[in-house]
Amino acid sequence: MSRPQDPRTYDLDALRDRVLPERDGQVSTSIPQLADADPDLCAVAVALPDGTVRSSAQGDVAVSVQSAVKPFLFALALLDTDGEAIERIGIEPTGEAFDAIKLESGTGRPPNPMVNAGALLTAALVEGDGVDERSERILRGLSAFAGTDLVVDDDVATSEHLLGDRNHALAHLMRAEGTLAVGADDAVAVYARACAVMVDARSLAVMGATLAGGGVNPVTGVRVVPATVARDVVSVMATCGVYDGSGRWMRRVGVAAKSSVSGGVVLSARGGLGAAVLSPPLDAQGTSVRGRIASEILADDLGLHVFGGW
Ligand code: GLN
Repeated sequence: MSRPQDPRTYDLDALRDRVLPERDGQVSTSIPQLADADPDLCAVAVALPDGTVRSSAQGDVAVSVQSAVKPFLFALALLDTDGEAIERIGIEPTGEAFDAIKLESGTGRPPNPMVNAGALLTAALVEGDGVDERSERILRGLSAFAGTDLVVDDDVATSEHLLGDRNHALAHLMRAEGTLAVGADDAVAVYARACAVMVDARSLAVMGATLAGGGVNPVTGVRVVPATVARDVVSVMATCGVYDGSGRWMRRVGVAAKSSVSGGVVLSARGGLGAAVLSPPLDAQGTSVRGRIASEILADDLGLHVFGGW
């Protein structure tokens, strides 16, 4: 392994140029807004512990956050329940797709917070009376992670709510098991709005850095969650964040990460560095193809693999 390069001068446009010719993968067709995504969108950003944020071209093009929101919903649920959320949800990898209609056997809990069942529950555990208040609290919490005022795309939220049949099924299953305290439709509505929050690569990288830095946003200096919460969340990202691709991801990239169907990948590296890649075409596990390749190269070039460095 060659000497790690300095993230303050690392050429992010060169990395983007390297992965842009990659043609594998398909954009998600789960909702019309995702099916319309530009397959040639590609952006890479890093957020450093000193608060510097750097990006390639297209670093300010926003997409809906989708499942990259899940670590942050877990963090907000832990915060708002004083850590009690950890008892309400499993933390073991499933080896199954993100929207598998399956709960933990024996307990009826969602298997982990990085799959849809888990995120439906963590979103419901965030404080707030009803859909609007809870959604508002989530939006404020996510904005604190990003260090900027994020917005919801209402059309995406509506599509997610109307077309998310598997999410409705999961919410009803959790109601039947007694694990979901709020109404099934309300749970889907809140989760759908959380998935519809718009992020660009720069804000997503800052969100990753806030978790990587123990819960303090490196740009604003604001403590968003306690260090113990950040550590719990990053640990579960590392084991479950890329669903049934998590083992391969950890071997090859070695950085805790969360993928999403909009083509976003958020990374939280040891030492407080956050990074993000946005590029819509997905592999069979629902992970951005260019996102995976760019993450591998970035981790190699910057020496980020948690078990590497020799
Ligand atoms: N909103 C999407 C869903 O619930 C998010 C899934 C994902 O990004 N993997 O199906």
